[in-house]
Amino acid sequence: AELDTLDIIVLGVILLGTLAYFTKGTLWGITKDPYANAFANANGAKAGRSRNILEKMDETGKNCVIFYGSQTGTAEDYASRLAKEGKSRFGLETMVADLEEYDFDNLDAMPSDKVAMFILATYGEGEPTDNAVEFYEFITGEDVSFSEGSDPALQNLNYVAFGLGNNTYEHYNSMVRNVDKALQKLGAHRIGEAGEGDDGAGTMEEDFLAWKDPMWAALAEKMGLEEREAVYEPTFGIVDRDNLTADSPEVYLGEPNKMHLEGTAKGPFNSHNPYIAPIAESRELFSAKDRNCIHMDVDISGSNLSYQTGDHIAIWPTNSGDEVDRFLDVIDLKEKRSNVISVKALEPTAKVPFPTPTTYDAIVRYHLEICAPVSRQFVATLAAFAPNDEVKAEMTRLGSDKDYFHTKTGPHFYNIARFLDTVGKGAKWTNIPFSAFIEGLTKLQPRYYSISSSSLVQPKKISITAVIESQMIPGRKDPFRGVATNYLFALKQKQNGDPNPSPFGKTYALDGPRNKFDGIHVPVHVRHSNFKLPSDPGKPVIMVGPGTGVAPFRGFIQERAKQAQNGATVGRTLLFFGCRKRSEDFLYEAEWEEYKNALGDSLEIVTAFSRETSKKVYVQHRLKERAKEVGELLSQKAYFYVCGDAAHMAREVNTVLAQIIAESRGVSEAKGEEIVKNMRAANQYQEDVW
Ligand code: FAD
Repeated sequence: AELDTLDIIVLGVILLGTLAYFTKGTLWGITKDPYANAFANANGAKAGRSRNILEKMDETGKNCVIFYGSQTGTAEDYASRLAKEGKSRFGLETMVADLEEYDFDNLDAMPSDKVAMFILATYGEGEPTDNAVEFYEFITGEDVSFSEGSDPALQNLNYVAFGLGNNTYEHYNSMVRNVDKALQKLGAHRIGEAGEGDDGAGTMEEDFLAWKDPMWAALAEKMGLEEREAVYEPTFGIVDRDNLTADSPEVYLGEPNKMHLEGTAKGPFNSHNPYIAPIAESRELFSAKDRNCIHMDVDISGSNLSYQTGDHIAIWPTNSGDEVDRFLDVIDLKEKRSNVISVKALEPTAKVPFPTPTTYDAIVRYHLEICAPVSRQFVATLAAFAPNDEVKAEMTRLGSDKDYFHTKTGPHFYNIARFLDTVGKGAKWTNIPFSAFIEGLTKLQPRYYSISSSSLVQPKKISITAVIESQMIPGRKDPFRGVATNYLFALKQKQNGDPNPSPFGKTYALDGPRNKFDGIHVPVHVRHSNFKLPSDPGKPVIMVGPGTGVAPFRGFIQERAKQAQNGATVGRTLLFFGCRKRSEDFLYEAEWEEYKNALGDSLEIVTAFSRETSKKVYVQHRLKERAKEVGELLSQKAYFYVCGDAAHMAREVNTVLAQIIAESRGVSEAKGEEIVKNMRAANQYQEDVW
């Protein structure tokens, strides 16, 4: 069937080309590009589309909808994988649906021969992802009401649920837990277990894979599905656009949407539509030889963007040139990198994740997460396209044997191209349909940074404090380098006078598509957060922020210094900061002195340098030493903030604080823990951790 559809498209191209010829191009003039996908204008794109999921399923003949609540693309990726697997293994008519794009008051009308799947990530402090907020509020609402009014409301609804969470956070997988509870309460029937993936333990993918097989078995039984041999079918058709070149004005070379292509980009700027912001200033903050951390000021004055102290800024990175080359090389597309193609969904509910017509180079550089860890499920899919039988056997084993896969790949930090190159022993992988990469790799994600400036002091200039990701990998010459931070590092070097920066041998298309980012620009948007100073500056604050965890606290302290200058009475401002050595990575050391001029003794920076003494000292040790004062400040209703490493530091700080409270109030440690919990619930204890 796949060839038929492709054939139709190809025939269509020929036919339209002929028509265009006979009509001397007038047809091209009046119609829009027939192969361009409807990505286009970020704001207009969703207008007019039906929000009725049942209608949509009926129209497209679907009996299985997979809803996703995704923040960083993983839940969305899992949803797509389930859709593909359901179709290829069980002949289910599946569709993937962004929770944001549908209404839910008719879920009760979904007939029992259909199934809804919910793939839900939990974000931050147990919150729904941005696209799941409305759904979450609806389904867990006190007085949720549905169209049919039957009782129990969702007695016909069959559903499947999987959550993506992180056990280092307080509210582990609370989204899937709460939604599952709400659906049960409404009388819906869950098929299989509600699965939970744990990013904190690094087992997300394996948790997902371990959950899905019994789920499929249960679903097959419930719906009477027959398993069949799964054959890969592409979701997207790739059409060569020989009449276009990379210079043609309608070709997307990395522009995120139509307004950007046409040079009419305007707000609202958001996760679909970045602002190409000038970088006002950038500099190195560390004096260590082998580690880097940059401070960057992003100018938003030319946009209608605004921010509040404590918010996050999203940076839209591009992949480095060497990784783009490596990727195109291993699938033997280097020669065709600038060829223009259109990507068409071969299935009416699938969405092409970037605008087209475009080039292979632009897709790989701007739109696919090509450097991320390799997914075992994807390896299993790619086995069918191995360059020879020996490699195919190895791929099949890697895809199906969890332990073998992890011993073989674990220590190497492979990305997909390095992986294919190694497993294929240098052979080119020319058989993989390009569609498989669009389906199997996550969309290139913006990275978030805690804004390190105060909006009261610099409302139109956003500061970022980012440590450059770099790790030595045993047995490999070049270290692993993070995507966004090394891109920012190259921008910093360019701004500081290097016309062609290549930090650590990496180059980037810093000028952007059609030189639109020239003059040091970076695409950004702002995300609101709940990490906020008390509205009364007189309240004391205690902040714990080692390393780049200090970022938002620079903003907080800047703000309080300004408030003091403006004549406000500012309460005690206590910062616990930790790093390796005063002489290497003491962030903003000189600046703290300036703020002291405004805040006087009410500001104190308590430092912990872990590598200056034989016994390592961390912020939590210093916190404990200051137990008496911390206890007193808390009894004066101080706000307590933690920012930075979620895995270890934030947990330990939580524990130490509970101990401090227990001791200072003469209660048990369990009671201390409970008090911290209540402080969290009352926003008196706030975390900004990653
Ligand atoms: P990436 O390329 O995304 O890599 C990140 C990590 O993923 C690597 O270190 C590695 O552990 C793993 N990884 C990636 N690819 C592979 C592979 N192929 N194999 C194995 N492992 C791999 N950071 C700051 O410096 N300052 C801040 O103020 C800050 N604030 C944040 C606020 C929030 C709300 C969040 C969510 C994050 C924040 N971060 C901050 C972290 C930041 O968003 C980025 O995650 C970080 O800068 C790394 O980005 P990167 O693209 O350079 O690295």
